Amino acid sequence: MKILVTAGPTREPIDPVRFISNRSSGKMGYAIARAAHSRGHDVTLVSGPVSIPAPAGVRLVEVISAADMLRAVLENMEWCDALVMAAAVCDWRPTAPCSVKIRKDDFRGPLLMERTPDILKTVSEMKGERTFVGFAAETGNPVPGAERKLTSKKLDLVVANDVSRTDSGFEVDTNQAVLIAADGTSYELPLMSKDELGGRIVEWIETHRAS
Ligand code: C5P
Repeated sequence: MKILVTAGPTREPIDPVRFISNRSSGKMGYAIARAAHSRGHDVTLVSGPVSIPAPAGVRLVEVISAADMLRAVLENMEWCDALVMAAAVCDWRPTAPCSVKIRKDDFRGPLLMERTPDILKTVSEMKGERTFVGFAAETGNPVPGAERKLTSKKLDLVVANDVSRTDSGFEVDTNQAVLIAADGTSYELPLMSKDELGGRIVEWIETHRAS
C-alpha cells in the first residue's frame, strides 16, 4: 500500500521568533511510519517540527504550520491508499502574524486567534476508496469524542487515548489506546510501546483493506 502519515505538532507564528504550538513529540506518527515501511509499504511522512530522527526508507516532507501541512496532505492525496493523521495540528493560530519581531513594549494584547483548517475534514471530500485513520487525544475518557470524529471526519478508525496519563500520550515512548472502527468494533489495547501500537494500526489497515 501507499501510506501517507502525518506526525508531530504544527507551529503557528505570532511573529518571526514566536509561535503557538503543543507538546507533540512526533513519536507516535514516526512509529507508524517505521512500522508501515518495515511491513513493506511505500510511506510518505508529513512531519511538523520535531527533534527525532527521520525513519530510514521513508519519504519525509517537513512542514511548519497547519496551512503547510494541509498543502502537503493535499499534494499526496491522489497518491495514497491510506491516510493516518497522527499529527497534533494546532486548532488555533494568530489571526494576523507580524512580519517583524514585536518588541516587548509594543505588544498591546489580547492576541487575536482564528481556527486553522481542519485537514481531515477538508480531505474527506476526496476520500474515495481510501482508508482514513485519525487520532483522538483527550483528557479523561476519550471514547465519546472519538465516536463523534468517526462520522464528522469520515474516518474508518479512530485511535483514542487519554493524554492526561503519564505513561500514555505526549512525549513518552508508550501509549495506551482504544481502537474504534466505523463498523462499531472496538479494541481496548493494553499499555504498549508506540512502535508496537504503530504495528497494530498498520495491521488493522491491512486487514481492513483486504476485507
Ligand atoms: O478534532 P480533533 O482535533 O479532536 O481531531 C483529531 C484528529 O483530527 C487527529 O487525527 C488530527 O490529526 C486531525 N486534525 C486535523 N486538522 C486539524 C485538527 C486535527 O486533521 N486542524
